[in-house]
Amino acid sequence: MTTQKKGKVYLVGAGPGDPELLTLKAHALLKSADLVLHDDLVSPGIVALAGAHAISINVGKRCGVKKITQAEINRLMIASAERGLNVVRLKSGDPAIFGRLAEELDALEASGVAFEVVPGVTASLGAAAALGVSLTDRRKSSRILIVSGHHADGREAIDDIDWTGLAREDTTLLIYMPGRDFGKISRELLRAGLPADTPSVVVSRATTPEQHVFFSTLTNLAALDNLEAPAILLIGRALEQVSARASRAEDLKLLVDKITAEFPIAHAITDPERSIAP
Ligand code: SAH
Repeated sequence: MTTQKKGKVYLVGAGPGDPELLTLKAHALLKSADLVLHDDLVSPGIVALAGAHAISINVGKRCGVKKITQAEINRLMIASAERGLNVVRLKSGDPAIFGRLAEELDALEASGVAFEVVPGVTASLGAAAALGVSLTDRRKSSRILIVSGHHADGREAIDDIDWTGLAREDTTLLIYMPGRDFGKISRELLRAGLPADTPSVVVSRATTPEQHVFFSTLTNLAALDNLEAPAILLIGRALEQVSARASRAEDLKLLVDKITAEFPIAHAITDPERSIAP
């Protein structure tokens, strides 16, 4: 009697958005997968790298709207591998960071199906690289704390956070799922003792063509409420480097605006729509 060949489940990190940030291993697995189960946040450009024969299913849940439950994802993954398929469970960033990896590993272990975890570039590291900043700096930041503003199921978690434990000047805070209430985060960290001028940077859609960067300080964070998701909030002295660069760029822009306002010829150069007056 021949036993049916079993497949395997690969829990793969897709990185923060830019397909070029995929690992070679993730790329090869995508090309050979029979079934790709991906989250909402995985870029379409990355899902498109799956081989022509693969079936891709979006199993993501956006804004807490239920499409498919975690138990259903687990069953689908396991049943497919048991029938001989190679399954890529594709998660944004790194699967081990706020990616429900633990729950899926529990189910896989209980099932006896073979599995492997393939790491990916997590959003905060993608954002830091895009900013051109070091998250540790032996002169001012010796710790990194990765925290989540929300629970995985969308429940507000900000009230559960131990802010005093987070508010240390030698720490870079990487806040995933910051939600839309940046003012609340700002008030809590100020109350916990972080200085008002602590550099705070929000990067939305990091490493994608829609990336936006917002430089601020802890006291002014509230002005950034209601930014487009997904966004990540980076707070700490290590960000001083990039904040200084941003304010120099802002100063330069103000200077250019001033010059172009004073000299009409400069308008003509900067704005091709404007004709040069005779
Ligand atoms: N496993 C993922 C995190 C999933 S939780 C990782 O390692 O990156 C989802 C949160 O990640 C989002 O709410 C947002 O805070 C962050 N995130 C994911 N992709 C992002 C991106 N391209 N830009 C900014 N933040 C991102």
